[in-house]
Amino acid sequence: MDLLDGRVSTVVLGIAQDAGMPHAGCCCSICQAAFSNLNLSLLSASIAIVDARQNPPRTWLIDATPDIKYQLNLLRDTLGPHPARPDRVQQPDGLFITHGHMGHLAGLVHLGPEGMAVQRMKVYASDGLIGALKETRIWSPLLDNLALIPLEPNVSLEMAPGLFITPVPVPHRDEIGAGTFAYQINGEANSLLYVPDIDSWALWPEARGILGMVDVALVDATFYSRDEISGRESVSHPLVPETLAFFREIPTRLVLTHLNHTNPLLDSGSKERRIIESQGVEVAARGQRYML
Ligand SMILES: [Zn+2]
Ligand SMILES: [Zn+2]
Ligand SMILES: [Zn+2]
Repeated sequence: MDLLDGRVSTVVLGIAQDAGMPHAGCCCSICQAAFSNLNLSLLSASIAIVDARQNPPRTWLIDATPDIKYQLNLLRDTLGPHPARPDRVQQPDGLFITHGHMGHLAGLVHLGPEGMAVQRMKVYASDGLIGALKETRIWSPLLDNLALIPLEPNVSLEMAPGLFITPVPVPHRDEIGAGTFAYQINGEANSLLYVPDIDSWALWPEARGILGMVDVALVDATFYSRDEISGRESVSHPLVPETLAFFREIPTRLVLTHLNHTNPLLDSGSKERRIIESQGVEVAARGQRYML
């Protein structure tokens, strides 16, 4: 991934729902094809923010997915060599976590002493999530490698000159009471909102205002229809047609991510894919880049 052109951008590192694709224990045709040919697999949803105006460039990740080792490797040229260990990459400048579910947090294990062994790496998350990490003894060897920094909801942080990130609370299934953040990233030219998980647009009163303000919205498209979950009533995600309807009057570029292995949008020849594309909506792809 060549991001070293002196610009500030966001890049997609993965687009699958938490458990990735192939999905553990799944015999569906798309997962079986990916089990047979790992080139077809999809990494769990994550993005990076890269500021290549600076030398060396600065790099931040949003979410620590179970696939983080592959995602860090995608960024190896951007991260550059580790100052003391030339056969390793430099650690990212920071990691912003959206919430405490598997696909967004479990990759922290790769940063601990058995893995990348980062040193005082900055990890930003809600106060509640940091508290939960500290309370769970199994994480304690890892936490010595991290600098945990609580984020104030709706308060912007200046990551670099003219580059801001703002944690925006959104409604999402919350078993541990730690909340879920979307992240709004504002560069000097453009802005992007990253919302990999949300229960429903209707439950988020500020949605229209915030989504209408950004240039790109990269949002939760876990399921296209209830058929994917045997008609279950509550799915803790808006279905894609609900998202299309919600965004119809919002002039923002809409990009879909966090797709479950069952989602027909993963098939680029599907009728569902034609429907969204006819409305000018895209499915995110690994390596896709948005200038900030
Ligand atoms: Zn998720
Ligand atoms: Zn499957
Ligand atoms: Zn979640």
